[in-house]
Amino acid sequence: MTQSIADKTAAILSRLGVAPARWTGGTMPGVTPVTGEEIARLTPDTPETAARAIARAKSAFETWRNVPAPRRGELVRLLGEELRAAKDDLGALVSIEAGKIPSEGLGEVQEMIDICDFALGLSRQLYGLTIASERPGHRMMETWHPLGVVGVISAFNFPVAVWSWNAALALVCGNSVVWKPSEKSPLTALATQAILERALARFGDAPDGLAQVLIGGPEIGEALVASRDVPLVSATGSTRMGRIVGPKVAERFGRSILELGGNNAGIVCPSADLDMALRAIAFGAMGTAGQRCTTLRRLFVHDSVYDALVPRLVAAYASVSVGNPLEGEALVGPLIDRAAFEAMQQALEAARAAGGTVHGGERLAIGPDSAFYARPALVEMPAQAGPVAEETFAPILYVMRHNDLSEAIAQHNAVGAGLSSSIFTTDLRESELFLSAAGSDCGIANVNIGTSGAEIGGAFGGEKETGGGRESGSDAWKGYMRRQTSTINYSRQLPLAQGVVFDI
Ligand code: NAD
Repeated sequence: MTQSIADKTAAILSRLGVAPARWTGGTMPGVTPVTGEEIARLTPDTPETAARAIARAKSAFETWRNVPAPRRGELVRLLGEELRAAKDDLGALVSIEAGKIPSEGLGEVQEMIDICDFALGLSRQLYGLTIASERPGHRMMETWHPLGVVGVISAFNFPVAVWSWNAALALVCGNSVVWKPSEKSPLTALATQAILERALARFGDAPDGLAQVLIGGPEIGEALVASRDVPLVSATGSTRMGRIVGPKVAERFGRSILELGGNNAGIVCPSADLDMALRAIAFGAMGTAGQRCTTLRRLFVHDSVYDALVPRLVAAYASVSVGNPLEGEALVGPLIDRAAFEAMQQALEAARAAGGTVHGGERLAIGPDSAFYARPALVEMPAQAGPVAEETFAPILYVMRHNDLSEAIAQHNAVGAGLSSSIFTTDLRESELFLSAAGSDCGIANVNIGTSGAEIGGAFGGEKETGGGRESGSDAWKGYMRRQTSTINYSRQLPLAQGVVFDI
């Protein structure tokens, strides 16, 4: 007899050490998009329990900030080890809760392991500067100090990786962390917390409350947003959410890292390797059922290669396997819920009204009525109009023609979001123009690969309505610390800067 998803979930949670009281007997349903069925009943936090968690995190920070950074790195090293041991279970739980195909569920956990490795190395760096002083017998330096409690608010589509990008850096930087995962993916968060607690137990003397999770909806996120004891809120989700969260954090002079919606585009040039472009576009646009912030949503194809590429893409859309990610070998899983399917249908309707020709997009009869599987949609548009300018969080690719690269770049940049972008070309002049100051206006600009699937070594994030935040690699760690400039006088004189005289 095959195991039900509820039983499979219970077995994974039990193996990972999540107490049944955390996910049974409560009022908040946990649902799998694979079938749409309820698999858990959680007890949500309240503004009062959230306030207590923040207070504990604040007190933990006051101890943790004094622990040497390389020792803090040891905790993240242990977390990486525990994640390696739990990779199969946590990856399977990501598939159950977010509907990802197995390689993407496992890939998400691999990304968590990768950022732990990165953060461990970082714990022996966190470099400051020494700066030449204009005054004799003086030295200037810049030091990076821990910030305090970091609030992490995350989206359903990367239910655990986003936490790790933030938490691994925040912890080695000397901060404590309070995480409010999406209300659509609380089980993976509880599982991650259990894995972290194993690392904490092995670490030995970490302060109580160093990293906590709060279960609930926007009102619990709001508790982090409003608290003056949370100097940094890192919020990942829709631009709509960021429009609320950003100003509220700014109002109390808190800091925010905003990782919001994308409306990512690719440009196909006449010299492109079309076989490679086809594969990159297919993965970028249909992978994760179009539910990545970096999903390819708009494609500008040069007139001279349009007929050689687009019919092949249409055929790929018609034949791509859509199905239950827990069984078989489907490449595209379900949409997260009914609302996502309805938003997809509304966008397709609006595209038709704006003159678009829609290929695919229909609901597929896979699983019970409570599950929402759709054939990915490719829409040939006469122009960038109607729904093309907005992110619809579903697998819709709008395809448009161009016959001039500068005009294509102008169209590419003419939307609110600014997350990821790519160009397909073998012409150096074209790729360099795209990467230049006059090219893509996005935080990520790729050549001959798609818009999605970033590695953790680079800083991740986008401009404009994507919020401007950066997470993960490069020097994104600086966002989790405060900078202090010090001038040290080792002389017996007191010369003032800029030649100012003040003799008393
Ligand atoms: P969402 O905005 O509905 O929710 C995201 C999180 O914000 C959830 O935890 C939610 O509870 C919380 N939230 C919502 N309103 C809030 C408020 N007023 N105060 C505090 N917290 C609040 O997004 P979603 O549907 O879960 O995720 C999809 C969206 O996330 C897409 O737009 C996608 O592009 C974006 N996303 C962006 C990135 C990135 O790195 N740029 C990564 C993943 C997803």
